[in-house]
Amino acid sequence: MRQLIAGNWKMNGLLADSLERASAIAAEAPRLACDVLVCPPATVLRAVAGKLAGTVVAVGGQDCHAEAQGAHTGDLSAAMLKDAGASAVILGHSERRADHGESSALVRAKVAAAMAAGLLPIVCVGETEAERLAGRKEEVVRSQLRDSLPDDFAGVIAYEPVWAIGTGRTPTEADVAAMHASIRAALSDRLGAGGRQLRILYGGSVKPTNARALLALPEVGGALVGGASLVAADFLAIAAAAAR
Ligand code: PEP
Repeated sequence: MRQLIAGNWKMNGLLADSLERASAIAAEAPRLACDVLVCPPATVLRAVAGKLAGTVVAVGGQDCHAEAQGAHTGDLSAAMLKDAGASAVILGHSERRADHGESSALVRAKVAAAMAAGLLPIVCVGETEAERLAGRKEEVVRSQLRDSLPDDFAGVIAYEPVWAIGTGRTPTEADVAAMHASIRAALSDRLGAGGRQLRILYGGSVKPTNARALLALPEVGGALVGGASLVAADFLAIAAAAAR
C-alpha cells in the first residue's frame, strides 16, 4: 500500500502564499512514491483545489460539522467541503478535541457525515503527556478508536501523541511501532478484514530529519505533518522519505 503524506496547514496562510505552496508541492509530487494530501484553511480550500486540479495532490478539510446543513453559524458541512474540492477531511484532531471540547462521540458523528458525503475521514487519536506518564497511552487510544469510529468505518487513522505535536519531541521508534501494532490489532478486531487494509499515519513533529526512520516502521502507513508542511521543501523532503 502506498504511504500517504498529509499536510495540515492549520490556521496558517492567506491566498497568495497558499497557492504558491500548493504549486511548489504539485510540481514535485509526480516524482514521489507516496500519495500526497494538503489540508488548507477553509477560506482558501476552493482556490487551492482549483490550483491542484489535474495534479496528483489531493485536498482535504480540517474539520466538518456532523449535520448535513442547518443553523450552525460558522460551521461547514462535509458536503460543502466536497463541493469546494476536498476529497478528505481531518477529524478529531487533538487541537479540536482540546480547543472545542470535541468528544469521541461527536467525532464519530462527524466521521459518519464525512463518509456519507464521500469524503475520506482521517481520524486523529493520541494520548496526552499525563496519560503517557500514567502508563495509560494504549488504553486511551483504544478507547478513542472504539468511540470515534462508526462500525462501517473506512478511512485513515492518524496516531498523534498530543505531547509530540508542535514540540519537536517524538516517541521512540519502538514506541511508535508498538502503538501502531496496537491500533492495527484494534482495527482488525473491530472491522475484520477491512481493518487490516486501513492506513495508520504517524503525526507529531515529523521533520525531514526524522521522516525516513518513522516511515520505515512497521504499520506506519504515512504521516500527518503540521508545522513542516508549511514549508514546501520540508514537506516534499518528508514525502520523498516515503518508500512504499
Ligand atoms: C499535527 O498537528 O497534526 C501535527 C502533526 O503537527 P506537527 O507536525 O507540527 O507536530
